[in-house]
Amino acid sequence: MNSIAEQLKEVRRQISTAAANANRDAASVTLIAVSKTKPLTAIEAAYHAGQRDFGENYVQEAVEKMNALADFKDVTWHFIGPLQSNKTAAIAETAAWVHSIDREKIARRLAQQRPDHLPPLNVLIQVNVDAEDTKAGVQPDAVAALAATISTLPRLQLRGLMAIPALAASNDERAASFATMQGLFLDLQTQYPTVDTLSMGMSDDLELAIRHGATMVRIGTAIFGARARK
Ligand SMILES: *Cc1c(COP(=O)(O)O)cnc(C)c1O
Repeated sequence: MNSIAEQLKEVRRQISTAAANANRDAASVTLIAVSKTKPLTAIEAAYHAGQRDFGENYVQEAVEKMNALADFKDVTWHFIGPLQSNKTAAIAETAAWVHSIDREKIARRLAQQRPDHLPPLNVLIQVNVDAEDTKAGVQPDAVAALAATISTLPRLQLRGLMAIPALAASNDERAASFATMQGLFLDLQTQYPTVDTLSMGMSDDLELAIRHGATMVRIGTAIFGARARK
C-alpha cells in the first residue's frame, strides 16, 4: 500500500482536477481527512504531509485524539458523526466544527456548552437528502426552520449544510442528490451571510460532489486505507 503522504497527494490531485473541470478554484474546496478508527500515528503522518483539517465520528474517540494531539495547535477538528444529547458537552469544549446538527435540542445544548474562551462553534445542518429511514439528518423541507433557530443561538455560527447520499445510488441518482443539496445551499446563502460551506463528497464521489459545489469533502479510505468494521 502507498504511504499516507502519497495517498494524500493523490487525493489533492483529484480535488485539483475536479475543481478545474468544474471551473472552480481548487482553494475553494477544503479537504477533511476522516481519521475515524485510525491510530494517532496515521493522523501524525497526514499532519507531517501538510494536512490540517481532520474529521472524527465517535465522541469518545474524537475527544481522546483531540486531547492527545493538543500540541498540534494549527489542526482544525471536525466532528462529523451522530451526536447524542448527553455527549454534546465534550464536543462543544473541543471541536471547531460540527457537521451533523439534525435537531434543535442538539444545537441548543452546544450553544449553552460552548466555552466563552473559544471562538463560536461552526455548525452545519445535516440533511437526509435521500429520505432514508436509517440515516440521520433533517428532511430538505425542514432545513429552513432549523436554520432559523440556529441563527438565533449564541456561541454557534451557522456555516451551511452537510449530506451523505444513499449508498446504493447510481451515478445519476447520486448526482441528483448533490444537485438537491446545491439548491438548498444556494437558497440558504441568500438568507444568511455566514453560510459558505457545503460539506459533501467522500472517497468514492468527491469529483461529482465538487462538480455540484461542495466546499468541503470528507475523505477517509482514499487517504488512510480501508477501515475495520466498527
Ligand atoms: C466515514 C465517513 C466519511 C469518509 O468516508 P470514506 O468513504 O472512507 O472516504 C465521510 N463522512 C462521514 C460522515 C463519514 O462517516
